[in-house]
Amino acid sequence: MDTVTLREYDRRYVWHPFTQMRDWEMDDPLVIVGGEGSWLIDSDGNRWLDGVASIWTNVHGHCRKELNEAVKFQVDRLEHSTQLGLANDQAAILAKRLVEIAPPGLCKVFYSDNGSTAMEVGIKMAFQYWRQMGKPLKTRFISFKNAYHGDTIGCMSVGGIDLYHEVFRPLLFPAIQSPAPYCYRCMLTSRRNSSKCGLLCLKELERLMEENAGELAGLVIEPIVQAAGGMIVQPEGFVCRVRELCDRYDILMIADEVAVGFGRTGSMFACEHEGVTPDIMALSKGITAGYLPLAATLTTHRIYDAFLGDYGELKTFFHGHTFTGNPIACAAALASLEIFEKERLLELLPAKIAFLEERLRELSSLAHVGDVRHSGMIGGIELVNDKGTGEPYPWEERIGVRVCQEARKYGIFLRPLGNVIVVFPPLSISLEELRLLMDGIKESIPAVTG
Ligand code: PMP
Repeated sequence: MDTVTLREYDRRYVWHPFTQMRDWEMDDPLVIVGGEGSWLIDSDGNRWLDGVASIWTNVHGHCRKELNEAVKFQVDRLEHSTQLGLANDQAAILAKRLVEIAPPGLCKVFYSDNGSTAMEVGIKMAFQYWRQMGKPLKTRFISFKNAYHGDTIGCMSVGGIDLYHEVFRPLLFPAIQSPAPYCYRCMLTSRRNSSKCGLLCLKELERLMEENAGELAGLVIEPIVQAAGGMIVQPEGFVCRVRELCDRYDILMIADEVAVGFGRTGSMFACEHEGVTPDIMALSKGITAGYLPLAATLTTHRIYDAFLGDYGELKTFFHGHTFTGNPIACAAALASLEIFEKERLLELLPAKIAFLEERLRELSSLAHVGDVRHSGMIGGIELVNDKGTGEPYPWEERIGVRVCQEARKYGIFLRPLGNVIVVFPPLSISLEELRLLMDGIKESIPAVTG
């Protein structure tokens, strides 16, 4: 079908997420019809470097032969069978593999089908756990300012991005919010990127935990990087200290590795950087290397065992989604893990990570780049109106969107987070492609900001 017709169908019938549709209707969207490695191919045959890995999902590139074959093979065996009352081979094998690679102590896998459901499951598990442990007063959650855990009601309740969450606040359960470790815009001091604060945000977290320990069921954290909040990288040692505080105040630690899991920060899971095992860990996005919707919430024996009991005791976890443990998605996930292993992917990453770091560092000198953040294969470039004061660009200027639009001149597709330009390519991106990506960004920022 020709591009004009496809655009017309899209504009007329599709409502896009996180999109002001009045703007969209006036635009000519790219219609993606193909993919190859780090590239997306549009309906006119143009190739676009996928700088955000199709919203942080793609790991081994688009249309990767081994993954395609694994999916095709599984389609011919079994497309779907329910986890309610039945097991399936792919889900069982994948669960074993996930437990093998997860931080030690995580030993049970509860499947669902997207990042929000993985987190919703984690929140509900933590809540019910305490009731079954005879501590029914532990019902509340603590999370961080700028956090993003998904768009369902529970996930939004522990979310901290006013732009997305404020309008829904009356619908949400009240959570306790601790300041984010956002060093460029410290929420507790007027300092900028100071290493001398002694992590005041952790002290505030501890104060809140101590004050509310009797009521707190869980702490929710995006370990190492708060992604949707603006790729905010936590100071070293932060996650480890959070774990210690959770232990001290008997609060379950729920790690949201939906964005950072599967190699993104340079280790298989972000918690590994600090030797931390959370009580509950949510995975999605990269789990199938970006192929299919699948999610998993991993937990420990301590929690799992609290749900065991006589049928009549009603300790069952009454939660489940129709496509839970879908065998095609699980087959894709297994094939992805095989590529990780076969290609020793994590061992190859440091060279790319070092290159990305160097290219990101170069951008710090640009006149309107306030802060450059980096972790593994993630970059966040915060654009500011005034570099001296850190004054942000007004939201309405859509500076991030305009820079990403400019980048299209270089054949690059990017999606910003407000004033933050996000670099989040497939892990399989070559050094040459990474160079193209960073060259394009380096040109695009000053072309828009001056
Ligand atoms: N948690 C984190 C850290 C995320 O980045 C996202 C998605 N951007 C989610 C949860 C929600 O995932 P999904 O969009 O698949 O519901």
